[in-house]
Amino acid sequence: MQDKKVITYASRHLRPNEVNYPTHDLELEAVVFALKLWSHYLYGEMFTIYIDHKILQHLTDQKDLHMRQRRWMELLSDYDCTIKYHPGKANVVADALSRKRESPLPKLVSLRAMNMELELEEVTKLLATLTIRPMLQERIKEKQSEYLELEKYKTQVVEENDTKFELVNGVLMCQRRLCVPDVVKLRKDILNGAHSVPYAMHPGATKMYRTLKEHFWWPGLKKAVVAQAYQCLECQMITAEHQAPVIEHLPLEIPQWTWGKITMDFVDGLPRTLRGNDGVWVIVDLFSKVAHFIPIKFKPGLEEMARLYVREIVRLHGVPLSIVSDRDPSFTSPFWVVLQKAMSTKFHFSTAYHPQNNGQSERTIQTLEDLLRACVLTMEGAWDEYLPQMEFAYNNQYHNSIEAAPYEVLYGRKCCTPLY
Ligand SMILES: [Zn+2]
Repeated sequence: MQDKKVITYASRHLRPNEVNYPTHDLELEAVVFALKLWSHYLYGEMFTIYIDHKILQHLTDQKDLHMRQRRWMELLSDYDCTIKYHPGKANVVADALSRKRESPLPKLVSLRAMNMELELEEVTKLLATLTIRPMLQERIKEKQSEYLELEKYKTQVVEENDTKFELVNGVLMCQRRLCVPDVVKLRKDILNGAHSVPYAMHPGATKMYRTLKEHFWWPGLKKAVVAQAYQCLECQMITAEHQAPVIEHLPLEIPQWTWGKITMDFVDGLPRTLRGNDGVWVIVDLFSKVAHFIPIKFKPGLEEMARLYVREIVRLHGVPLSIVSDRDPSFTSPFWVVLQKAMSTKFHFSTAYHPQNNGQSERTIQTLEDLLRACVLTMEGAWDEYLPQMEFAYNNQYHNSIEAAPYEVLYGRKCCTPLY
């Protein structure tokens, strides 16, 4: 942390030999890990280490240190730092990070959060920051005071102990969600903000409710969401054309980490735009389900695809270890070869063809086709202008298969939108 702001964080798995370390050794190991990792920030600076374990505080006074501890203490003495005890409960940032990482995919992601903060004491640079605040939240706060029906909940806060309502800086919240008063325009704006704007792109009722219930509350919110989703004219037109094939999908082998194992497919035959695009190349990470939609002139040559892949995917996520595709090996193998050429590497990818049922990309393509229909029906201008918003809508909304939004898996939490 610098100037009360988190500037970086890290965590790693325990090595097999570390599993049996006593807790205070693990805490010290974590400190050493951080010192080594951030030595470029910390060497020669005065800083404070906060940890949530009291033993370390007294370690410096101990006489009988074993070899490992002595080695660590030696490294500590190279740095100009003070170690302070910081109770776990107050360590909200680290807790939030560790909790979020553990909740959606407990088996796949078992990162151990190091409950530790580093704080640089000298502020050497001044940065100018432009901050924006969602206006909607301000409006809700304002209207709360005008509408009396919320008063009964406010009374509950004062009179009852086990109420789910609370007042935070004078604002009425229900289990950490903003209580929205019965102002038709206000509630309508919220529903629209989660449904028909470009960054939402007409999600179904379940996805929409998942998004809204994290931030807003009013009696009958779910009903209002269902009504909005089922009464939406555009949605009815989209689902009328929607004939999802019922296919039994074989589960794919579980990938180890993000963007190691991907799947890809194409949507073609779209109206040609001014930029000459008439198709979308859909690339999905099988771990996080994050998808990228790349507009293409169907069908691009392999060299062009490799160039696009490096520019759009490798830039953000690195090189894939395997590709699952419904297309025959005559597509994937040459693609590996040209990708390798585009990366200017002499390391050879080994290619193996495992015929698998690619349900993942079929489902994503189905969703993308729905999004594209929504876009053609509701937005003016070319569909490829809205492809980035569609990609955002797809990645920032709840997915059943991972019980989270893809961006939540990739980044640890959902991205901000104008709504929240
Ligand atoms: Zn709709």
